[in-house]
Amino acid sequence: MSGNRVRLDAIKDVEAYVPPAVSYAATETPGEIFGANVFSTSVMQKRLPKSVYKSVLATIERSAPLDPLVADAVASAMKDWAMEKGATHYAHVFYPLTHLTAEKHDSFLEPVGDGTALAEFAGKTLTQGEPDASSFPSGGLRNTFEARGYTGWDVTSPAYVLENPNGNTLCIPTIFVSMTGEALDHKTPLLRSQQAMATHAARIIKLFGHDPGTVVSYCGAEQEYFLIDRHFFLARPDLINAGRTLLGARPPKGQEFDDHYFGAIPDRVLGFMMDTERELFKLGIPAKTRHNEVAPGQFEIAPMFERANVAADHQQLLMTTFKTVAKKHGMECLFHEKPFAGVNGSGKHVNFSMGSSTVGNLLLPGDTPHDNAQFLVFCSAVIRAVHKYGGLLRASVASASNDHRLGANEAPPAIISIFLGDQLADVFDQIAKGAATSSKGKGTLIPGVDTLPSLPTDPGDRNRTSPFAFTGNRFEFRAPGSMQSVAGPMTTINTIMTEALDYIASYLEAAVAEGTEFNTAVQLILTEMITNHGAAVFNGNGYSEDWQIEAAARGLPNLKTTLDALPELVSEASMELFEKYHVFNHREMHSRYEIGLEQYALSIGVEARLTLELASTSVVPAAVRYQTELAQNLAALKKVGFETDLTDLEVVSAKLTALRVALRALDAALATDPGHTAAAEATHAGTALLPAMEAVRTAADALEAVVADDLWSLPTYQEMLYIL
Ligand code: ADP
Ligand code: MG
Repeated sequence: MSGNRVRLDAIKDVEAYVPPAVSYAATETPGEIFGANVFSTSVMQKRLPKSVYKSVLATIERSAPLDPLVADAVASAMKDWAMEKGATHYAHVFYPLTHLTAEKHDSFLEPVGDGTALAEFAGKTLTQGEPDASSFPSGGLRNTFEARGYTGWDVTSPAYVLENPNGNTLCIPTIFVSMTGEALDHKTPLLRSQQAMATHAARIIKLFGHDPGTVVSYCGAEQEYFLIDRHFFLARPDLINAGRTLLGARPPKGQEFDDHYFGAIPDRVLGFMMDTERELFKLGIPAKTRHNEVAPGQFEIAPMFERANVAADHQQLLMTTFKTVAKKHGMECLFHEKPFAGVNGSGKHVNFSMGSSTVGNLLLPGDTPHDNAQFLVFCSAVIRAVHKYGGLLRASVASASNDHRLGANEAPPAIISIFLGDQLADVFDQIAKGAATSSKGKGTLIPGVDTLPSLPTDPGDRNRTSPFAFTGNRFEFRAPGSMQSVAGPMTTINTIMTEALDYIASYLEAAVAEGTEFNTAVQLILTEMITNHGAAVFNGNGYSEDWQIEAAARGLPNLKTTLDALPELVSEASMELFEKYHVFNHREMHSRYEIGLEQYALSIGVEARLTLELASTSVVPAAVRYQTELAQNLAALKKVGFETDLTDLEVVSAKLTALRVALRALDAALATDPGHTAAAEATHAGTALLPAMEAVRTAADALEAVVADDLWSLPTYQEMLYIL
């Protein structure tokens, strides 16, 4: 019998596998390699004429418009630098609305007409490209006959050389827009939102009498992921094609022992981590923290926070690097939000703050936040933003895959609330009653061992169940999915903050103009903010049933699935918001909504077909063989006059029948024509295909528990999660 071959061979291969040695040279220090492949400002300073360097720096640091005259000089220096690093090609790298990274490679060589070629890289080639846009989703922004799309250099995100065994490439981060200037990517709106936020933040800082500098938002993204041996991965068509297991019973030993979180990192994984960090360092990505996560086989990496658009680019690059390095180490890196049912899923916590070189971090409370009025104003803006636009925040993380995670008691609920912690909650309570006059101080923890010093504790505790939590000097948005780009959530945060800051700035400016004392005006607006928007503040357990009821009473939306959340993108309020601050126009909003629906229907459609195929070609045959074996055994026993027990055969047969029934229903759901609008297809996927797939899974997993192990061909959860 050959049904088991794939799986049992995989196990043998895993055992025989010898991981490669880590490629750190003994003499190398992280300091030496950090940024080695980045065309950084320090490289520019060395290689560019002084005036050109100053001009580019003004664009990077002060958002001054790029002087087109300097582009030629930068391009030429960039090309020479890249060719010294072995680059033969250059690529404009952009982020289409699939959450993937796209690049179009061109050679530096240009024929000169006499049969030879010269290495050329002109300023206009650096600043603008024209990839064929027709194969990227546009949500109706572009007809195929107007396939033009343009890429444009993002000067504020550094170019870099990407190494590849078959040749190195100079990569230039770019935006991607249609011929009519509409955004076809994640970066364009992020940059627009950044600009809007900076303008209105500056108004407030000026009112406080400070020099605002150029305010930017910062993002530090914590990335969770799974690693499994590649032999197992290749034996699972569902993991290959859908990124998650569509079948598979839970292992007898799950994560209930909590023995993986912060446990010792396995050697093989440590080798992989050291290698990825080396690659990330070369690209100037400040990888910092690494540890095991809650589930077996799950890990996390958190790079140091950076300016939001750079962090978003680096995040995409990090995911690509992880995939590549994992393969080198014989593993597959899974970024799906829920690769394994019944096991903790993966998120990407987006840590957000804002500030500038002149004012520092605007979300830093200091020891006595009650008398840090500027901090309180910015913090109250966050409260208003989250309260007014919680639905939009939910929509910014909506996807078929993230639906498996949100609200499943492992990730924050779909209700978007804000956690302030003890100290701040108390300060805002005082403000609500009139004015804040005191701040709860830091506590002291006494370990009770004479040789150990007492340790100061934070004034605010942590709350893992809140989707939007204050964590000392930043807010942490915990709902984003592990697979998605951070650009979408960051664009939303920047824009809703813009609205709140604009509102507060207008109030304060008007009050001061009318002769109200500034401090009084600040008190009044803070009280208004917490009174009108305090409903979004929740410091309790976000996983509890009670919260669902209370949140409803407070009028907070609870958008459970992507189908519920996506319409937020095209609500009156959202469209007005994004249009007002020039982040998206109506057409762009509609296109994002359409693409959201399309991607949702597409990914569930693929999963449904895969489930049907996998259950029909792997599970049914295994069960039939086992059924036959049992029947033959019974017949043989009967022949020699043995008493026979039909239980096993009956059990398998009943479960097999149940699976066949579920398969027929899934087949019928797949054959139903939902109608041809994106909304109809998405609704069909979510309400007909998903439950039909679930039913097949339940029936198939029940068979996994009874069919003889040697007949089972799909690697089991136990094997995938525990053998590394
Ligand atoms: P946690 O305790 O939440 O697991 P980690 O250390 O794993 O924290 O990750 C915290 C993330 O928050 C890092 O990416 C870090 O750079 C980022 N971060 C720290 N301070 C700020 C800030 N002021 N603004 C934005 N991100 C920040
Ligand atoms: Mg963390």
